[in-house]
Amino acid sequence: MLRQARRLLAALPGTSLVRASSLYVTAPVGGPEQDDYLNQVVEVRTSLSPRELLPAINRIEAELGRERLVRWGPRSIDVDILWYDGSSIAEADLEVPHPRLEERRFVLEPLAELAPDLVLPSGRTAREALENVREQAVRRVAGGRGELPDKPIPSQSGGPKMDHSAMQAEIRRLAKEKGAVILAHNYQRPEVQDVADFVGDSLGLSRRAAATTANMTVFCGVHFMAETAAILAPDRPVILPDIEAGCPMADMVDVEGLEELKAEHPGAVVVSYVNTSAAVKAISDICCTSANAVNVIRSVPKDKEIIFTPNRNLGSWAAQKAGRWVIVWPGFCPTHGLIDVDDVEDAKAAHPNAKVVVHPECEPDVVALADAVESTSGMIRFCREDDAGEYLIGTELGMIHRLEKDVPGKKFYPLTQLTVCPNMKLITLEKVLKALLTGGPVVTVEEEIRVKALRAVQRMVEVGA
Ligand code: SF4
Repeated sequence: MLRQARRLLAALPGTSLVRASSLYVTAPVGGPEQDDYLNQVVEVRTSLSPRELLPAINRIEAELGRERLVRWGPRSIDVDILWYDGSSIAEADLEVPHPRLEERRFVLEPLAELAPDLVLPSGRTAREALENVREQAVRRVAGGRGELPDKPIPSQSGGPKMDHSAMQAEIRRLAKEKGAVILAHNYQRPEVQDVADFVGDSLGLSRRAAATTANMTVFCGVHFMAETAAILAPDRPVILPDIEAGCPMADMVDVEGLEELKAEHPGAVVVSYVNTSAAVKAISDICCTSANAVNVIRSVPKDKEIIFTPNRNLGSWAAQKAGRWVIVWPGFCPTHGLIDVDDVEDAKAAHPNAKVVVHPECEPDVVALADAVESTSGMIRFCREDDAGEYLIGTELGMIHRLEKDVPGKKFYPLTQLTVCPNMKLITLEKVLKALLTGGPVVTVEEEIRVKALRAVQRMVEVGA
């Protein structure tokens, strides 16, 4: 939840996360009914005033499940403005610096870690104030990066590997018997990638789906990818082994909202990332993937406005590369959003000779620290052609397996072990086997929507990478 709160804070307009303290566990000073809680202090750079920040913070707390009526006692989350650039505000609903800033050890410990020489209202520094405050049980539980201890992810972190060969052999046998082609995205589990006919990014898989002559396509990815395959090849069934595998970013843009934005910008060309529903594609002019977003934006006549949906980071990055100005939809990928500047700095300190390669869906402050910004297919090309021997990879963890296979002899490390897309990981070998046995679940697209969406997808495939 703290990670979520940090991500939502950094997503506020004109705001970016500068640093985060370690995490601390604190025994509460309140009643015994309250459990120990986790806390952290972060430093943000923002163009919002304290008065503008307050409602934004209230919205973040509400989004994370806080009941506003609970002002004291157990709460799911509590986000406070502790200090704001030396400002002093004393109003009924807003006091800055926080009135209890120098009273609580659970605040001062992380604050003194982050900014020991910050001068507080009493004239003492944070470090001095910490020495004065009464005892309260505060324990640091995660160092430096302010992250919770990572859970190892067995097949991608050097842990024990399971033997999947028997099930993979059965899947291959069944695929041959049924005339099925198995497509897998680069973010799929390693054992699923290894059983597929083709592994690739959205653009590569779309091309394969369009060109296939197989009786059926088993698409190991998320829902919008299977829909795209169904748009391109309507005459053969497209099976998504788990129909619940969606994409939260694709869900951030809807037809109604996009129609409203189009009405505000009549004549604008709508470029939609392929990570959108078929219905959104149907009201878009052209689709793109991260591999060809720059070229797609360049292909739009210079006298036209451009609306880009749904990923704000990809849209802004591609627009800058293309030398164009675009109106970006404020969507984001929660998985790529988990990578922060501390991760890059920590990883670089651990692997000083490695180059940093990140996906353009990462936050701009992470992108700014990278040696290369690439789509997943671009990462393979870059790491193959580049002369370094080690790389720090900023994208979903499944990509590490793909890189290790495709670029042998080089070393790849994730920037953080946290970038696991839970939707991509819903697809398992068992579900692929079941999909082949049952011929379902099939993803379909209503014909009227399919025909409209096809135009936008075909334009994307024509522009190429
Ligand atoms: S990694 Fe991000 S964009 Fe890709 S499916 Fe998962 S949530 Fe969606």
